[in-house]
Amino acid sequence: MMIGLIQNDERLESDIRDLIYAFFFGVKIKKVTDTSDQYDLYVDVKVTGEQVAFSLVKEDMIVGQTFCESLDRNPVKESIYELLSAYTGKQLPWGTLTGVRPTKIALEQIEQGKTIDDIQTYFLDTFHCTKQKVDICTKVAENENRILQGISYEDQYSLYIGIPFCPSTCLYCSFTSYPIASYRNRVEEYLKAVEKEMDYVSEVCRNKRLISVYFGGGTPTSIEADQLKRLIEKVKQSFDFTYVREFTVEAGRPDSITREKLKVLLECGVTRISINPQTMNQETLRLIGRAHTVEQTKEAFYLARETGHQNINMDMIVGLPGEDITHVEKTLKEIAFLKPDSLTVHSLAVKRAANLNIQMEKYRASLKGATNEMLELVDDYASHLGLSPYYLYRQKNIPGNMENIGYAKPGLESIYNILIMEEKQDIIALGAGASSKFVFRSEHRIERAENVKNVEHYITRVEEMIQRKKAIMEDKYGHVVL
Ligand code: SF4
Repeated sequence: MMIGLIQNDERLESDIRDLIYAFFFGVKIKKVTDTSDQYDLYVDVKVTGEQVAFSLVKEDMIVGQTFCESLDRNPVKESIYELLSAYTGKQLPWGTLTGVRPTKIALEQIEQGKTIDDIQTYFLDTFHCTKQKVDICTKVAENENRILQGISYEDQYSLYIGIPFCPSTCLYCSFTSYPIASYRNRVEEYLKAVEKEMDYVSEVCRNKRLISVYFGGGTPTSIEADQLKRLIEKVKQSFDFTYVREFTVEAGRPDSITREKLKVLLECGVTRISINPQTMNQETLRLIGRAHTVEQTKEAFYLARETGHQNINMDMIVGLPGEDITHVEKTLKEIAFLKPDSLTVHSLAVKRAANLNIQMEKYRASLKGATNEMLELVDDYASHLGLSPYYLYRQKNIPGNMENIGYAKPGLESIYNILIMEEKQDIIALGAGASSKFVFRSEHRIERAENVKNVEHYITRVEEMIQRKKAIMEDKYGHVVL
């Protein structure tokens, strides 16, 4: 579907686009000056002084029209939402909220002393979300508020280390990931480059308190057990672990897990791991390019328990190609049988660089996307498992405009997951494709230092990655002579 966007003022464009995408998944929007092309629909936006008129035009006929008496963001979004809702006959569960972090709004209001009733009323009146979404959003914000008590944002920080190798590439992957089989001989050089970045960061942060460490990627357990051990030992030598409350390693792919690696993680003080089925349907696993079986996922989970891991997360995805609610229920039943300590559910997002997007024509017919019904089912299962929602975020390009939610047993939530979503604390990230976030709270701004994604480039240009960090860190943490 093609939609033409006609506008005499571009200030409102980003919000209008987000809402069009939310109503018409997979649509292409083109900026045009009139309705002379053969597009399926035109959205015409005319700003006059402090007023704006919106029209929907199809085959030269006006099929919908509304006005807004203000150019403020919320009323403008409300007007376009109502127009598109009337035209499509659809209501969006998240209403006019198109942002990535709806819980951030709720958490800020809790911190300002507002009651949950007041916050819920504000969400319902301002954003037109459904009561179900408002409930989950405020519940998450309450849990975040409880979990974040005692965390100081000024003198504490978290550390992320990216290992960009995986056993194979998943169809929907948009992360920095290289197949380990072809990159095994680059791992040593890669780890040396990470160590170089680590030397710089640990020196600059020596007067700050490290509170959480996260190894992600990629799949960190793709590298050998002895390499994993050396890397963790290096981290522990370089940073003071006195205040570290959580150390997570994404064991992610079951086909990367061995008893030896699980033992290394436990012996090196890793407190939380993730073993990710994504789906418990064998046919889907094959379709999405995960080279492991459902049985392997279960075996990896039992092995982790047997080795002594007491905080295991499982990730699943709803809305995978070919899957409907019966597939989701099967996955949930299998997961419920294993009883993980936390469950993270992602609504499938179709990212531009992912193979799923590149080969979209092949998958379009089988791709229905995540539905509210699926997420409600996940919520039911999570609640039966004693898991409570504690972080939530949304991504662009999720069909149906749904969300991702993390559930956990009380006390076993990942602080890192909350901190990265709520953008309250510095997160210093090492490795290819890693992005560090520096929060300047008093100035209400965030600065990012991005590392290059390409592994070869990262290895050869690690000094430049250090300089990128240095430019921000010296401003924030002070000058360090190495
Ligand atoms: S396991 Fe994760 S990082 Fe690796 S290919 Fe799959 S989606 Fe990408």
